[in-house]
Amino acid sequence: MTDLLPCPFCGESAERITIGEDEDDPNFGGDVIQCSRCLASSHVEFEFKENLVSAWNTRSDKAARKAAFEEAAKVANRAAEAAADMAITGLSEHARRRESMNAAACSIAAAIRALAEKG
Ligand SMILES: [Zn+2]
Repeated sequence: MTDLLPCPFCGESAERITIGEDEDDPNFGGDVIQCSRCLASSHVEFEFKENLVSAWNTRSDKAARKAAFEEAAKVANRAAEAAADMAITGLSEHARRRESMNAAACSIAAAIRALAEKG
């Protein structure tokens, strides 16, 4: 069984709980991972319980998040450079603006994809 990483918010240890049927809770039967100090929790998982630990551990992975932000910053930089290149190549004002908007939209989309992939 994979070990649980500490809480991404307060750093305390986390535990996995199966919500019991005798508890007066609409989530009974589901599994949840919860911090023992601040009570931050994962979603309640009913069917795909094997994914619960990796979901919690990915959320806690600061390195992965940092890498995603760095990748997003690189993409934004490339878009800014492309926009600057266009500004000096003598396109009409209208075309230049449209290209800049395209580049900005692409960089934002790429940044969101990068963040979504890394959680
Ligand atoms: Zn916590």
